[in-house]
Amino acid sequence: MRNSSRNGTRYVILRDDDTNALTPVASLERLYRPFLERQLPVNLAVIPEVRRATTDPRGNREGFVPAGQGEPTVPLAKSPELVRYLKANPNLHLVQHGCHHDCFEFAISDAREIAQRFERGAQRFVEAGFAAPVTFVAPHDRFSPASLAAAAERFAVVSSGWFELRRLPPTWWPRYAMKKFLKQPHWRVGETVLLSHPGCLLSYQRPMETMLANLQRAATSQRLTVLVTHWWEYFHDGVENEAFVGVLHALAEWLAEMERRGEVRVVPFSALAEEEIPLN
Ligand SMILES: [Zn+2]
Repeated sequence: MRNSSRNGTRYVILRDDDTNALTPVASLERLYRPFLERQLPVNLAVIPEVRRATTDPRGNREGFVPAGQGEPTVPLAKSPELVRYLKANPNLHLVQHGCHHDCFEFAISDAREIAQRFERGAQRFVEAGFAAPVTFVAPHDRFSPASLAAAAERFAVVSSGWFELRRLPPTWWPRYAMKKFLKQPHWRVGETVLLSHPGCLLSYQRPMETMLANLQRAATSQRLTVLVTHWWEYFHDGVENEAFVGVLHALAEWLAEMERRGEVRVVPFSALAEEEIPLN
């Protein structure tokens, strides 16, 4: 298995987190037009009903909500412009990213509250005219054992950072030990695909000069790679980070070239539920 995975097509999934009803359409268009022009699918992990006052783990206002007053939470359907834009670009694939994106929202253990947050989030997609997503991303990639078990029951694909024993349902431990032994980044529990990612390689906090090379290395060193980024990091403090946008667009060009050569396929998360794609 490991030998065969050194040859053959590599699969790449691009995941951009934190799109919500307050996200300017122009930002997404600026970042992703080069992908869409090349028919490369982009997965937007969309916050179904963003909480304006949400904070990051250090207590700072999250970069994906603008400063200012307004309703405490804003559902996706409140931005008809964004909804129209997402519908007009079917290569933007929607993934459910929490419910309100409260800090460590799915690190909770109360089964009823977990179910309510999944349900409310799914409803926000449906009321905006979308299908409920088949893929889930937890805010800050953080799960409790109970919320991870519930996510696996609801979703075909769960994308996270990494998996550690103490955050897994105990019934998964034997399967997890096997995954660790085989050094597999991705695994399955029941019908659900569980994906890890190699950290946020596409981040404004990393050196720009080496970023593209690091992305290329990550995308070619394993069978399937999830690359994670955050749209708002390209527009930090309201100013476009041109060098960073340049790296993202160079990635689009490289991925398109690798696809032409038959070495890489860029796929949406939903493809994992629809076709036979090798995970490792
Ligand atoms: Zn997020």
